[in-house]
Amino acid sequence: MNHQPFETWLLEDKILAPAEKRELDAHLQICKICSALAETKLALFAARTVSPAPGFALRFRQRLVALKTAEQRRRLFGILLFIASGVGIIGIFLVPIFTSVLASPTGWLFDMASLLAFVVAALQTFRLFLSTAFQIVPAKYWAAILLAFVSVGALWFASVWHLFRRPQGVFA
Ligand SMILES: [Zn+2]
Repeated sequence: MNHQPFETWLLEDKILAPAEKRELDAHLQICKICSALAETKLALFAARTVSPAPGFALRFRQRLVALKTAEQRRRLFGILLFIASGVGIIGIFLVPIFTSVLASPTGWLFDMASLLAFVVAALQTFRLFLSTAFQIVPAKYWAAILLAFVSVGALWFASVWHLFRRPQGVFA
């Protein structure tokens, strides 16, 4: 059954011409859906407007401030967790090196020197790897590789962020 234009007339509070009104009444006689709509509309208009309890505006404002504060706190906590998890991941790689350095304080200088040598060697290897990679991998793939790294980073950020952003509503 076609409910137009009756549905629109009912929803839009259109002032109907006599011919239109007759048409609508005829449709309401045979259409359960539109007559339910018309009844709902009547019920809504008939409903008494309840005036809010005294101090409503003040309570509403206070609740809004509390919600905003909670939101800010959650956001701050999310940022802290984001940083902490980043530091944690770096720490997983660095702690074994530091503990081995601190385990023998007498050999600390030697360890530092070998660590420095290791870092320099690692950097040189990395540079060699990069220059070789640039020669082997065609330039058009670098965008895709970079995009993959950025995506993983963004995914990590988004998943941590999402934890602390639950949907919010203002309660009556
Ligand atoms: Zn209808």
